[in-house]
Amino acid sequence: MNETKPRILIIYTGGTIGMIEDSESGTLRPFNFDHLIDNVPKIRKLDYSINNIQFDEPIDSSDMSIGDWQKIARYIGDNYDRYDGFVVLHGTDTMAYTASALSFMLENLHKPVIITGSQLPIGEVRTDGEENLITALQIAAATDASGNPMVQEVAILFENYLWRGNRSTKKSADNFNAFKSNNYPPLAKIGLGIHFDTDALWRSPSRRPLDVRLNLDPSVMFIDLFPGLSSEVLNHMLHTPGIKGIVLRTYGAGNAPSQSWFTDSIADAIERGIVIINVTQCATGGVHDRRYYTGDRLARAGVISGRDMTSEAAVTKMMYLFGLGLAPAEVRRYLGCSLCGEVSV
Ligand code: ASP
Repeated sequence: MNETKPRILIIYTGGTIGMIEDSESGTLRPFNFDHLIDNVPKIRKLDYSINNIQFDEPIDSSDMSIGDWQKIARYIGDNYDRYDGFVVLHGTDTMAYTASALSFMLENLHKPVIITGSQLPIGEVRTDGEENLITALQIAAATDASGNPMVQEVAILFENYLWRGNRSTKKSADNFNAFKSNNYPPLAKIGLGIHFDTDALWRSPSRRPLDVRLNLDPSVMFIDLFPGLSSEVLNHMLHTPGIKGIVLRTYGAGNAPSQSWFTDSIADAIERGIVIINVTQCATGGVHDRRYYTGDRLARAGVISGRDMTSEAAVTKMMYLFGLGLAPAEVRRYLGCSLCGEVSV
């Protein structure tokens, strides 16, 4: 491998970008990496050393699992010293979850991990996949004036923007600009050039080497509030066997029913050692649980404020913290801190 060229590893997991039409059913299904690369001859114009790894069976990202996240994290960890940057090709449906999970699993990351995919398969005439792949490679190879990687975090590149991975959410099933980080500015805007917002980019305060944390604990769940939620249904969920952590998706600035059937059940779950974090169902803004009486009752019961964290970041952060083997009190403490730029503190 020529050492002077940027060295990039592409990890192909599947997703629409590499899909082809099934001749029998007419539906899209993941296909192999050679097919994908054959459709982007322009890649050869980039003067990079590019290698690739692909999942044995590329998947639709709706099938993404903790085991798959471990596989991606392991590929990055095993190849970390051999490459300048990593591009992960992934379906859009669960991309924000994967980006969030990897941001926690890859502790002390100092190289770019750029996740991208597309809305139209790479073989289609109007595909967005070719542009996304090429831009992702360029971002993974980008360096600052001192020769250090410009991006040193897990990020999502889609169409015109580069977003922090653990701040992102899929916002459109149809639009080429399919992602957004509603509570954090884009890390870069992509037009004729790639314009980085250097103030927005994450820099790990630790100089320690990469530490890949593979253990994620799946004993977590979402509870989504809606008017009409009954005490029976709520209590059934709060007594889910083995559950350790709950992401409670509340209204507006972190509000929930103030009646005792609700707050007593929540307080009881917390007393039983379950960790509960409050995130808003709103697309933008966050939890200000002392603003209204209804939110304040939750905070007093011991529910942690997720502030402006996304649901995707909250649930994967809990998996990661419980996966470290931490006790509930420690999990609660770290949920309130920013570990890798996932929440404004
Ligand atoms: N269902 C596809 C996936 O997430 C959608 C996409 O890639 O855009 O794998």
